[in-house]
Amino acid sequence: MPDVPPFETHAVENQPPEFAPRDFWADDVALREALAANGGQDFGGPVAAYGRLAGATLLALASDAHRDRPRLRSHDRIGLRIDRVEFHPSYHALMQSAIGHGLTGLSWTDGRPGAHVARAALSYLHSQAEPGTSCPLTMTHAAVPVLRREPMLREWADKAASTHYDAREVPIGEKPGITLGMGMTEKQGGSDVRTNTTTATPLGDDDYSLVGHKWFFSAPMSDGFLVLAQAPGGLGCFLMPRRLPDGEKNAFRLVRLKDKLGDWSNASSEVEFTGARAHRVGEEGKGIQTILEMVMLTRLDCMLGSTSLMRMALAQAIHHCRHRRAFGKALVDQPLMRNVLADLAIESEAALALSMRVARAVDAASHDAAEAAFARIATAVGKYWICRRTPAFVNEAQECVGGNGYVEESILPRLYRQAPLNSIWEGSGNIQCLDVLRALAREPDAGAALWAELQDAGANDAFSSSVQPLRAALEGQVAIDPGNARRFVEQLALLLQASVLLRTRSPVADAFCRSRLDEPHRLAFGTLAAGIDTGSILARAL
Ligand SMILES: Cc1cc2nc3c(=O)[nH]c(=O)nc-3n(C[C@H](O)[C@H](O)[C@H](O)COP(=O)(O)OP(=O)(O)OC[C@H]3O[C@@H](n4cnc5c(N)ncnc54)[C@H](O)[C@@H]3O)c2cc1C
Repeated sequence: MPDVPPFETHAVENQPPEFAPRDFWADDVALREALAANGGQDFGGPVAAYGRLAGATLLALASDAHRDRPRLRSHDRIGLRIDRVEFHPSYHALMQSAIGHGLTGLSWTDGRPGAHVARAALSYLHSQAEPGTSCPLTMTHAAVPVLRREPMLREWADKAASTHYDAREVPIGEKPGITLGMGMTEKQGGSDVRTNTTTATPLGDDDYSLVGHKWFFSAPMSDGFLVLAQAPGGLGCFLMPRRLPDGEKNAFRLVRLKDKLGDWSNASSEVEFTGARAHRVGEEGKGIQTILEMVMLTRLDCMLGSTSLMRMALAQAIHHCRHRRAFGKALVDQPLMRNVLADLAIESEAALALSMRVARAVDAASHDAAEAAFARIATAVGKYWICRRTPAFVNEAQECVGGNGYVEESILPRLYRQAPLNSIWEGSGNIQCLDVLRALAREPDAGAALWAELQDAGANDAFSSSVQPLRAALEGQVAIDPGNARRFVEQLALLLQASVLLRTRSPVADAFCRSRLDEPHRLAFGTLAAGIDTGSILARAL
């Protein structure tokens, strides 16, 4: 008889060790460089600390927050409507951590230059660990400048930017900190919000009564919502509190929660307003302009969110391939796998570089008109391209992990389900591309800012020869046909990513230009041309 304990059949071998706990900051040289290159160096300490937290505690909370999905409790035990959503305690712990570390407020409360860049880095780290909470976090963060414009709403703005998370359902006067949502999309139209049918009837003192519905309404447990509705003077933007100051529940009900492909820790609802009280923000007829200020910021967070999914997927793939052997070698040493991993690493770093560059432009926008113009157009370009690339990227990383990558414990299925979302909400892909054309046609400063960014980015022949043909379009001398908007914006995005990598002298800049600009990149990842130093790219990546 062999000397083995009863029922043992085999030894478990050739499986990688646990991925976590990890230090997301220490792992990520591209992040450290991007923080410094974009003026966030003063915040290195707190961002580093959050990287450690994200790679250990927060990552451990994420699977419960997703597995135990939010539930709608429409009524209480005696049949009264309560319209409450219950979350797993891990969700609240994630929200607490993010808000406590400034993910909603740092950029509005810390006067130092680089605060937006630091918040972007925190957001990127947080959403690597758990992406679903990014929805309420980004909406809360992005609503602050809109609310600040209204002296009457100062308390709302201050509490949204605070470091307190308070999930109690009480009027905001009783809370040290609040969260915010937004309601634009209706059944008959999401991209074209001019078709909104919800009505806003004046009650006096800039208060209104809302009647209608919203078809997608995420984070419905927020304390207030910026909502679009038709007022007598046209589409307006309104702040609708969940609880009225006297503690009464406001007149809106949650119809149901969406049964979504992914994004499971976050609740998204359908909602009806039955005379809900709301306060006007901005003028009647200017609702879209008002809420666009918020949407510009949530679009940047879509870029960061998709970048964080890429980063997490890449880290999982490299970790696996370093430890897994097949055909006599570690997978990471198989030439074709190196090509795939290096190609993913280049893509991930390019996404981060562009996102952080746009965060820098947002940071400077209040005192630098050129940076404001750059942020306006580069957000649309980056939102389109980075979010577009993410589902294919995550799937490729999943394949690197093999069958285990299709199984929940590997995290990759969660990332895969999340991956398409950022390209759909906050203006889908086509809307972003058309927005780029609109900016070029109507806002000459935007094209000029983009051209200034692309000029003299660095000595690279592929870059220089690709950039010249775009000049006329960026200077408004030729108009792009809307049917070609994706072709045009894709090229713009590649050039912008290349220019940021070249300017910051990233070690992947030449490989990016060679593979994305010089010779046409093939449709799949893993198609880098011979001669690119995949070894050094991979050493840098994790
Ligand atoms: C999980 C989730 C949560 C959400 N949460 C919220 C929320 O909290 N608040 C909120 O307001 N919304 C929310 N949304 C809605 C989201 O913003 C919309 O779904 C999105 O803006 C698209 O609108 P739509 O679904 O009405 O599609 P449509 O507007 O019908 O668009 C369908 C497609 O047509 C394209 N398209 C539209 N116009 C043109 C054109 N002129 N040329 C070419 N193509 C065009 C679009 O790009 C899109 O690909 C959420 C969506 C999801 C999936």
